[in-house]
Parts: sequence; structure tokens; C-alpha cells
Amino acid sequence: MDRRHLLKNSLALGGVLGLGNGLGGCAATPPAPAPAPIKPPSTQWMDRPPLLAPIRAHTDRIFDIKVCLRPFRTKGPNLDVEHIGDAMIVHNYGHGGSGWSLSWGSADMAVQKAMSTSPRQIAVVGSGIIGLTSAITAQRAGAQVTIYTRELLPRTRSVRANGAWTPSSRIALESEAPTNFGETWEQMARMSWKNLRPYVGMRGNPITFFDHYYLSDLPEGQAAPPNPDLPPLPPPTWTGAPVRNADFAHYDERIRDLTPRTQPLPDDVNPFPAKYVRRATSLLFNFTEYGHILTSQFFAAGGKIVMRDFHSPSELAHLPEKVVINCPGFAARDWWKDKAMMPVRGQTGWLIPQPEVQYGLTYRSVQVLSKSDGVMVIALEHGDMKGYNNSDESPNRAESERAVRVIEELYSRFPAGPV
Ligand SMILES: Cc1cc2nc3c(=O)[nH]c(=O)nc-3n(C[C@H](O)[C@H](O)[C@H](O)COP(=O)(O)OP(=O)(O)OC[C@H]3O[C@@H](n4cnc5c(N)ncnc54)[C@H](O)[C@@H]3O)c2cc1C
Repeated sequence: MDRRHLLKNSLALGGVLGLGNGLGGCAATPPAPAPAPIKPPSTQWMDRPPLLAPIRAHTDRIFDIKVCLRPFRTKGPNLDVEHIGDAMIVHNYGHGGSGWSLSWGSADMAVQKAMSTSPRQIAVVGSGIIGLTSAITAQRAGAQVTIYTRELLPRTRSVRANGAWTPSSRIALESEAPTNFGETWEQMARMSWKNLRPYVGMRGNPITFFDHYYLSDLPEGQAAPPNPDLPPLPPPTWTGAPVRNADFAHYDERIRDLTPRTQPLPDDVNPFPAKYVRRATSLLFNFTEYGHILTSQFFAAGGKIVMRDFHSPSELAHLPEKVVINCPGFAARDWWKDKAMMPVRGQTGWLIPQPEVQYGLTYRSVQVLSKSDGVMVIALEHGDMKGYNNSDESPNRAESERAVRVIEELYSRFPAGPV
């Protein structure tokens, strides 16, 4: 980066000096060659990347490793209604790698069904991101809401996620999703986006926009050869019926208008020591602040939370509320015997927070997101299949260390000095 700036500055200086020489020259001196015209920068001022603080990627700065199972449902999220005794159960689970993103839209659909009998009281099972947003949406529709849950938000799987706007990540298998699921998904995504808007700019930054840089040493589509200085890539971790990345349904094109497109960064404004860089602007959830605000909103609207661990669906028939929105996440596989639920393991390594790092990046299948509670490092190799049908929730430190070393190597290429 310094080298680039130095190069740019020396070019500019050369131009100024050349002009001075020309003005001060005497007749005996051969005329100085005309200064080369300075090429206008490729990118307008306002779109140039700002000075970027370096990420302190070192394995001894890893202070936490979280593992989580995405509640992937091969058929897409379950929003069906069923009855147990005189209780109406509206399901709202199975959002794969998209639960934070789709939560408000999915809650809206579930609450519309739950309110069809105009109940005054509604029970919500679960206080992950799907349960909390369902509960608040039901309150906004006029119901008194009690959440029954085994764990509160900070202990749920939800807070072990990445927390970026990824509304179609592991949301269904193309072959198993209902025919019109693309439309349902689009409605969910748009409704969520609309509901997230009021949280942008709130004190504590529960939701923020940030620039994300996609770096590569090779042109797009070319795989980087293994780096001999790094441990080899871990073997694939999926088991059972083989799926391919292409088997996962993706609908992002349907909502292209919501977020800016990824743009290549020309060489003269590329601040990274990698040849090919693209930039996108995206949305990030800061779990601590966002979770705190949602919980406060729920209580402020008169919501109650009861700690309860259900062991059989029939227990729901004994709740005082006769309408129940069921948001148990991945637990639906055992509790509700939903065979379409498939665990997709994911792990995040956490480096000590760096509030000065206001961007994210992806390089050599490693993603870095700088959040208020830490710099998150995620190994992405093998794409959507990574962790498919793997329900091992124990941390694998070697995986996170390898990912951190990929980023450490990247930053070691910067010359010494401020970035
Ligand atoms: C590694 C990883 C990265 C991810 N990244 C993103 C991302 O960037 N963006 C995004 O949008 N999504 C992401 N996700 C997906 C997202 O985290 C999930 O879709 C979402 O958290 C699911 O929320 P939930 O409320 O359904 O489930 P959970 O968070 O699991 O909550 C379930 C709730 O139900 C309760 N419960 C369960 N069973 C019972 C029972 N028997 N009795 C009482 N209570 C019960 C639990 O205690 C808990 O409160 C990611 C997931 C993973 C694993």
C-alpha cells in the first residue's frame, strides 16, 4: 500500500518538478521533455477505498471459537400449521444459513397464520432470532406474547452464526423446495429488509453497512495453488448422501435491487497486496447490541419469558395459550422428528476486537468480518457443502488457526508502516 502511495506520489511530484524545470530553463539547456500527462484516476474520489486499518491476524489473538449447526431443511423453512388437541401450532423453523436475514419476513408469514383466529394470547417456543422476531411481530399484531424456551438468546445457536445479510444461504435443496418457494423466499427477504431498516443507525449499531473486499491473486475463476507455507486444507467434512454446491437453491437475483453490486477495484486504487480485488457493500448484524434491543423491545411491549424444556409435542397442548408459534431451530429434528432437517456445521474463530477495522474481506476461502465483539474468521472451503450432515459441535482449533494464518500471510505482504 505504501509502495503504491509512494509510486502515485512520486509520479505527481515528478510532474510538478518537470513543470518547474521547464519554466526555469535557459536557452543553452536543451528543453526538458514535456512531462507525461498524469493519467486521471480510474475511480471517482468518493468511491475510492479509505485508509484501511490492518487486521491483526495472529493465532495467539484467537480468544474464542464458536461452533453452530445451521438448521437446514432440505425442503426450505417449515411454516406449516398443525393441531395438537385444541392448540394450533404454526411452525417457523429450518432457515439454514439465512435465519438472521430472513427472520422478520418469516415471522410475518407465521404471525399472519397465527392471527387467523384472532387470539389474544400467543405462545412462542424458542428465543433464538426466529423466536424473538416472531414474538415481537405477534405483539405488533396486538397479541400478548409469552416465550417458552430452554435457552435465552445469548446461549442459543443463533449467536454462534456469522451474522451477515445472506438470505439464500443453505435455504433449501433445489430438488426438494416447493415449486413456488422462490416467490415465498422473495417475499420473506423483502419483508425482512424493510423491518431491518429502523435498526440501521440506532445507538450501539445493532446493524451496520460495511464494505467487503474479495481478494484474489489470480483472475476470477482460477483456483489458487496450495501455499506451501500453510497447513494443507482440511478434508471435506460432509457425510451421508452427497450433495453438490449446485444442488442448493439460490434466489439472490430476485432481490438484486436491494443491495449494491460487487464492483472490481482498479489497480490504482487497490489498497491490498493482491492483484484482483472486488468490493461490495453489505449488511452486518452485531449480535450483542441487536439482541439486547430486540429483548428490550419484547419486554417493553409486555412480553414474558418462561424457561421451559419441552420433550414431546403433546406438551404444547397443555399451555394456556391456544396458538403456538414453534421456533425450535435445529432441535426440530429430534423434538418434532422432522426428517428434512439436516445439520450443516459451521465454525467461527474470534480474534480480539478491533473497532478501527471497519471492513470485511474474503481471501483464499477465508472470510473476515470485523464486528463489535470481535474479528470473526471463517474458513469457507468446499462452499455450501462444508459441514453438511455433520452435527459435531466441538471446536476444531486447527481449522481456525489455519484460517487466521491465511490472513496473517496476506498482511505480512504489506511493507512495514501504516496501511
Ligand atoms: C456458522 C453459521 C453461520 C451463519 N451465518 C449466518 C449469516 O451470516 N446470516 C444469517 O442470516 N444466518 C446465518 N446463520 C443461520 C442462522 O444462525 C440460523 O438460521 C438461525 O440462528 C436460526 O435461528 P432459530 O431461532 O431458528 O434457532 P436457534 O437459535 O437454535 O433457537 C432455537 C430456540 O429454541 C429453543 N428450543 C429448542 N428446542 C426446545 C425445546 N424442546 N424446548 C424449549 N425450547 C427449545 C432453544 O432454547 C432456542 O431458544 C448461520 C448459522 C451458522 C451455524
